[in-house]
Amino acid sequence: MRWLKAEEVLGSRCPICGEPLDQPGICSRCAAELRSERRGNLVYLGNYRRLKGVVRRLKYRGGFVLARPLAKPLARGVVEAGWQVEAVTAVPTLWWRALSRGYNPAEVLGRALAAELGLPYVRVLARRYARSQTRRAKDQRAALRAGVFFVRRELPYRRWLLVDDVWTTGGTFRAVERALRAAGAEAVYGAVIAAGKRPL
Ligand SMILES: [Zn+2]
Repeated sequence: MRWLKAEEVLGSRCPICGEPLDQPGICSRCAAELRSERRGNLVYLGNYRRLKGVVRRLKYRGGFVLARPLAKPLARGVVEAGWQVEAVTAVPTLWWRALSRGYNPAEVLGRALAAELGLPYVRVLARRYARSQTRRAKDQRAALRAGVFFVRRELPYRRWLLVDDVWTTGGTFRAVERALRAAGAEAVYGAVIAAGKRPL
C-alpha cells in the first residue's frame, strides 16, 4: 500500500505536465526530459513557471521522492561544467521552520545531489532569525540578509556546491557565498531546481 500513501501526500498527477503519474514523483517522460542549463556559476533545470509545481511539492513531507529525479540531471550539469567541487551544502532554513516541516527541502535535494556526484554533503551553515522584512527598503533588506547566514564550523573543504530550491534575484545565494568566502572558501557554485527568467 506504499503507492497509495505516496499518492495521498503528493497527488496523482505529474507536477510538471499535469498528466497522471506512472511512477512516484515525476512522470517518466518528464523525468527523462529534464536537462540542466547553466548560466555562469549556476546550474538549474528550467524556469520557475514551468517547475513551480515541483518546487512546491518538495516542500511537503514525502516530497523527497522528487529529490533523486531532480538530482540526476543537476549532477550531470555540474560534471559537464567541470567545476571540480569538493563538497555540497545547502542554503539553511530557519531551525523552527525545519522543525515544523521535519526537513529542509534544499538539504534533501543537496544530499541527493551529493550522492549522485559521489561527494560529501556537509552541514556548515546556519541562519539567524531576522524580523519580517516586508517594510524595509531594498538595500536595507540586502544588508540584513547578508548578516543572517553564517558558517558555524571550520570549513573542511575549499570548493563548494551550494544548493537551494529556487533562484529568484540571487540575493540569497550571494549572501551565503559571502559567508562561505569569509570563512575561507575559494569557489562557490550553485545548483537549484528553478530560476527566474534571467538568473544572473
Ligand atoms: Zn510529466
